[in-house]
Amino acid sequence: MLTIALSKGRILDDTLPLLAAAGIVPTENPDKSRKLIIPTTQDDVRLLIVRATDVPTYVEHGAADLGVAGKDVLLEYGGQGLYEPLDLRIARCKLMTAGAIGAPEPKGRLRVATKFVNVAKRYYAEQGRQVDIIKLYGSMELAPLVGLADKIIDVVDTGNTLKANGLEAQELIAHISSRLVVNKASMKMQHGRIQALIDTLREAVETHHPH
Ligand code: AMP
Repeated sequence: MLTIALSKGRILDDTLPLLAAAGIVPTENPDKSRKLIIPTTQDDVRLLIVRATDVPTYVEHGAADLGVAGKDVLLEYGGQGLYEPLDLRIARCKLMTAGAIGAPEPKGRLRVATKFVNVAKRYYAEQGRQVDIIKLYGSMELAPLVGLADKIIDVVDTGNTLKANGLEAQELIAHISSRLVVNKASMKMQHGRIQALIDTLREAVETHHPH
């Protein structure tokens, strides 16, 4: 059995056509189903529906052989324990700092609100900047509006969400897209099968999302 961990929403919607190119089609619509384990048209391939931030955990521990995770999630997870053999070029966005439009740089320590705590620590450490990181789980845009933080770090696509809240994107931390990740032991034990799947997916990516 090959088990593939995916999260609902953008990543699932954009991954299904790539899996279909490899002949892997879920037997029920994962967006509608309440099931967390979804069989596919290939008897020996199944999908696990998990939270986006949990995909690296399932794959690193071998509960899933493969997974699809955003580079933002992988940067935050910091996985040395995973192979990342393929950029699927889906769910593209940018990881950025953002702050209130026209706000002056704060005089004292910078307060940064984000769910990407590890990324934020690394980013400001590289710049030698002293910052206080405030962990949030969502609606980061609110933090600068109510004085919880000077800046946020979040993923930005069109920038409309920032704009609607009087914020502007400032520094680019990383270009983001979703990646195929593979459990290291699975890659050894099922090498032929997984490598064949990676090769097929790579071709599908070239067709669906050419450079
Ligand atoms: P935007 O288009 O910049 O207004 O983004 C809409 C919302 O979706 C914001 O809350 C972003 O943080 C989030 N977002 C945009 N692109 C992605 C992505 N590829 N993965 C996860 N979240 C995203």
